[in-house]
Amino acid sequence: MSELEFLRALHVDMLRLNELGGRAPHTLFQTSTIQALLAGAFDGDVTLEELLGHGDLGLGTLNGLDGELIVIDGEVFKAELDCTLSRPDAQARTPYAVVVPFAPGRTEQLSRIAGASVAHHLWPDDPPRAPAAVRIDGRFDTVRVRSVPRQVHPYPSLATALEHQHTRDLHDVSGTMVGFCFPDGLSGLELAGAHLHFACDKRQHGGHVLDYTLDEAIVRLDSATSLHVELPPTVEPPDGRTVDQAALRHLETD
Ligand SMILES: [Zn+2]
Repeated sequence: MSELEFLRALHVDMLRLNELGGRAPHTLFQTSTIQALLAGAFDGDVTLEELLGHGDLGLGTLNGLDGELIVIDGEVFKAELDCTLSRPDAQARTPYAVVVPFAPGRTEQLSRIAGASVAHHLWPDDPPRAPAAVRIDGRFDTVRVRSVPRQVHPYPSLATALEHQHTRDLHDVSGTMVGFCFPDGLSGLELAGAHLHFACDKRQHGGHVLDYTLDEAIVRLDSATSLHVELPPTVEPPDGRTVDQAALRHLETD
């Protein structure tokens, strides 16, 4: 599907903080763009409290690229650098996050599958035409998570910051993955493909998912019809230059 066809299938609005409405079903709310994050725009203007006004499931990071953000059932967790979870302050701000009021329309039971093959099992014939919010609850043989150290001004690029990421391998772990699958990068708005964050059942460990193998899990999907992108004051709409999705995928997977 071409980008134009994709844009017709999805209603995209770009807004400033004072223009935002409330939450709406099947509407993804995102702060900033992946293009801005790649360039080191690590300060945003939306608080976690405001973020939760737009959804109860999602992911992101905190200002300064301070760890990985995980939103499950309206609760926010932060993966510290060692991939232990803490509860961030509601007034902390995020430079990049995506949330949705999760209302799944499709449920699948999956077993014994590597993470890289999950999309093929979910969509064997036809890749999805619209982005989907994803929740995977179950037991995993392995989950490799990572987190990132807080950066200081002047901020480096995302690629440079991720050279200092810490990874942790979780084995035989039950928990929940939350995130999104975008069929297209939308000219710098999105990371194309699946982007998942994980929290174990005890909410002790988690982070950005680099790789996983699931044992038994239930996958729930919420197909999105709209995308509201909030642009912080220093972030302009994507300039049309295409983000190198292959390089970006390399940063975000194992
Ligand atoms: Zn992530």
